Amino acid sequence: MIKYKLICKNCDNLFDSWFSSSKEFDKLKKIKLLNCNNCNSTKIEKSLMSPRVISKSNSKNNLIKNEEKKIKYFKNKMRDYQKFIKDNFNYVGKNFAYEARSIHYNKKKSKGIYGTATREDVDSLRDEGIEIQNIPWIEEKEN
Ligand SMILES: [Zn+2]
Repeated sequence: MIKYKLICKNCDNLFDSWFSSSKEFDKLKKIKLLNCNNCNSTKIEKSLMSPRVISKSNSKNNLIKNEEKKIKYFKNKMRDYQKFIKDNFNYVGKNFAYEARSIHYNKKKSKGIYGTATREDVDSLRDEGIEIQNIPWIEEKEN
């Protein structure tokens, strides 16, 4: 007895079947007595692929897809957040430390500001009691 892995060319169904010899397989195939156990098609071939490899790569693809979904979701959240900041805060770019001090010391009435600051700027601003928040920022071109 020989066990073959068979694949249906019609629906890609993989299944095992036993034959007394390899000739029996050819004979049954010729007189169309080999049927797919899923769709009944007679387009049956011996499969050289192991079904385990197929399911393995499938689940790997799904994992990657899930990760991509998560990243996309996170990026969308970040964009909403960034939009909120852009709408409600003034962008001051690299002048952030200067502007933050002028608001803090002059009690200037102002919308909040956002911009870029060096690590040292952030540390010294915090030492001076100026409230700063670090936010991760996604550049639009990163799409
Ligand atoms: Zn089939």
